[in-house]
Amino acid sequence: MEKYDILIVGGSTTGCWFADKMAQKGAKVLVIEKQVPDNVSREYDIFHMGEADMMRFDLDIPEEGHPVREFRFESSNMISPYGTIKKKGAYSPVIGLHKHDYIMLMAEKAQSHGAEFIYGAAFTDFIYENGRIVGAKYSTADGEQTVYAKLVADCSGIPSVARTRLPDTSAVCNFEITPRDIFYVVLYYIEYLDKSIDPRSLDGFFMQYKSWSAPAGDGYDAILGIGGSYSYDYSEEVFNTHYTKNVEYPEYTVKKVEKGMTPYHRSVFSFVDDGFIAMGDAACLTKPTCGEGCTSSLVQAEIAVDVISTLLKENLPLSKENMWSINKRYMVAQGKDFDFMRPLLMGIVTLNYDEAEYMFENEIIFSDALFSGMDGDNLNLKPADVAKWLTSIAKGVAKKKIRASAVGNVVKGLMQALEVAAHYDKYPTTPLGFAEWKQKAEKMWDEIGSLADTCDPAIMEKLGITQ
Ligand SMILES: Cc1cc2nc3c(=O)[nH]c(=O)nc-3n(C[C@H](O)[C@H](O)[C@H](O)COP(=O)(O)OP(=O)(O)OC[C@H]3O[C@@H](n4cnc5c(N)ncnc54)[C@H](O)[C@@H]3O)c2cc1C
Repeated sequence: MEKYDILIVGGSTTGCWFADKMAQKGAKVLVIEKQVPDNVSREYDIFHMGEADMMRFDLDIPEEGHPVREFRFESSNMISPYGTIKKKGAYSPVIGLHKHDYIMLMAEKAQSHGAEFIYGAAFTDFIYENGRIVGAKYSTADGEQTVYAKLVADCSGIPSVARTRLPDTSAVCNFEITPRDIFYVVLYYIEYLDKSIDPRSLDGFFMQYKSWSAPAGDGYDAILGIGGSYSYDYSEEVFNTHYTKNVEYPEYTVKKVEKGMTPYHRSVFSFVDDGFIAMGDAACLTKPTCGEGCTSSLVQAEIAVDVISTLLKENLPLSKENMWSINKRYMVAQGKDFDFMRPLLMGIVTLNYDEAEYMFENEIIFSDALFSGMDGDNLNLKPADVAKWLTSIAKGVAKKKIRASAVGNVVKGLMQALEVAAHYDKYPTTPLGFAEWKQKAEKMWDEIGSLADTCDPAIMEKLGITQ
């Protein structure tokens, strides 16, 4: 029976990138993808990646005019809840691409470097020998197949088909990504009735509604997007009852609607176990600010390529111990910053619209300095910024512009964020001590809760959503 170094489950952005890089390092790689090629990643059409990230991760940037490339634009604004104040984000050009077509190019590139792909092949279970993962079973139109590999990489996205089959004793959390942990995104491709409008002048992100206006490519003026927890109905209800009522938009017609899901959950605490690694959306590596995950996933994947290719070259087993440095290095490179932001953002989105508008006006939290100083997607916070916010917030409370309870939520979020950061600094360098670290981390996250806890109770009741 043929044996592979790496078996990758899922051939979308994370799976294709990892396959390509590992194949380039000389590994024998097989990708199994549940969909037939024509159906891969058809949920939504346009996606974007930062040009700088594409260069960093050696992702091909199609030339202008290439059918896969739709547009290039520069970072857009953060906008206050009533749409009156705009803060400029850091300069960062973004490339808009057709997702399915781009993924097929990524797959072709990986194949040109020797990675093999089987489409219409759905992972069903692991194969174990002496309690250790040694491969997987998958189903195809021709029935169930088996494949042996030194490592199974779960790149299957939200279903996390392999990770969720790990035993409870695994170092890798085997939780399912539930509707509470998902950001349900609805994209309205629109056309403004007034043709003299410059659609790009309206682009920006509204943190308070988790909503945005962005380029849509040929044939449309913009995409109005909205994301929310629990269901698409919840997101659309927020769009219709909060966003469109508070933000004045010129009249438009909706030409097309797309829907898709992205995880909104802290990352798993350990990515690796003996013969296994979780990656991409399956490991919850999306950005806490917006739920995008194509390039943020590659921060971990890049580290994984380095560690795993070295182990393969030295003929060392792909064991939990040997791969542990992927966990530690990821925590330092991105994990700590991402999970620091989650509780803080949860505190910030509980501000009511008047409070957030006041803070935009008075450069409290929503400040030019903060947004323009964002390092990639990380909030580049300094203790002096925080001290300044707290003083300004106190003034806002004295003027009755900010409720004391809202201050409580923001301060609570900040304290929890700092607690997360301090704990993640102590992430163990070997699996020894992990059980204890994990226990404390779980307790912290139980107390922090989820973005879903900040949902509008009136809409939840109307839609019959229970926590
Ligand atoms: C509407 C919307 C817009 C977005 N826009 C952006 C954006 O502009 N930029 C950005 O960076 N991110 C964006 N995201 C997030 C982005 O889509 C994900 O973070 C990214 O696709 C994750 O890639 P992945 O390869 O980890 O998982 P996925 O893209 O989910 O791929 C998983 C693959 O695994 C396959 N699979 C599933 N089950 C099995 C199985 N049993 N066996 C074999 N294969 C299986 C699936 O068919 C799929 O091809 C957006 C998300 C949504 C919903």
